[in-house]
Amino acid sequence: MHIVIADSSRVGLEILKRMLKERGDTVDTFTDGLKAYRFLVAEQNIDVLLTGFELTSMSGLELCWEARLLAQTRNPIYVIAMSSTHDNDKLVQALDSGADDFIRKPPSHEELFARFRAAERLNMMQKELVHLANIDPLTGVFNRRAFFEKAHKIMDGLQPEQNFSSLMFDIDHFKKVNDTYGHDIGDEAIRKVAEQAGVENAIVGRLGGEEFAVLLSGYSSAQAFDIAETIRNGIAALSIKTNQGILKMTCSFGVSEYRDNETIDDMLKRADIALYQAKHNGRNRVIMFDENRLRLVQ
Ligand code: GH3
Ligand code: MG
Ligand code: MG
Repeated sequence: MHIVIADSSRVGLEILKRMLKERGDTVDTFTDGLKAYRFLVAEQNIDVLLTGFELTSMSGLELCWEARLLAQTRNPIYVIAMSSTHDNDKLVQALDSGADDFIRKPPSHEELFARFRAAERLNMMQKELVHLANIDPLTGVFNRRAFFEKAHKIMDGLQPEQNFSSLMFDIDHFKKVNDTYGHDIGDEAIRKVAEQAGVENAIVGRLGGEEFAVLLSGYSSAQAFDIAETIRNGIAALSIKTNQGILKMTCSFGVSEYRDNETIDDMLKRADIALYQAKHNGRNRVIMFDENRLRLVQ
């Protein structure tokens, strides 16, 4: 595990660090609360924060609280407050401020290790829960809710002039696949199709039964179009063996590029309109959203 320890005593920090290194943990120590906090912000994968109360710049209680807030938006951080006998009141406050557990100073070897085993169990469970809540179990891509959560995060961090494009795609005549080969083969087909969309840096979501969306941050619509073509060809090249023979599939794609001040829904809506066009024009093709063509069709 990656552990951050914050405490006023340098000697105490050194002892704890040595103990934890025995377990094979990565340990970073701080006497300054604010520096510890900044480190937690910068490092995405801290598993445990072990903190005393008397720190410089920021109190241990504040640090507990801030760590709890941070952990709400990313990987879980298990927070252990460390107290000496004279700060019992603070211990209660620490638990109320978001600490998961506490330990007396100086902790014994056995107790410290037992607390960390508990931290490991809890972190693992929490990670599993986050995974279950975000990932579509059939395909392993993001479910609808998580996809939009990721989308909003990208939007928040979007720089002016940054390219950002989206794809929507849907399996062609999928009802026929289910009718001919059965639901289980249909499921396998959906899984194989989703695999093809696993492009580098892409956020892939299963928005509905056999409908997917892909966000391509840093890609222009022309690049997104090429990516869609690659995915489309990959899907068309798939062969799924079934008792009723080889199953082949195709998908139709719509592409759109982000416009200043619009929402994710606006951009995806345009990709969806282009997808509808791709279906209308004969399927197994990629169509870029185009205002002019839309006017002609309407
Ligand atoms: P189109 O080319 O116009 O997209 O035709 P389509 O037959 O694919 O039409 P539509 O998108 O309306 O059909 C989707 C079908 O996908 C209907 C539904 O029974 C099936 N489906 C939805 N979710 C699942 C799933 O999880 N597993 C399987 N096997 N089938 C699903
Ligand atoms: Mg379909
Ligand atoms: Mg559909």
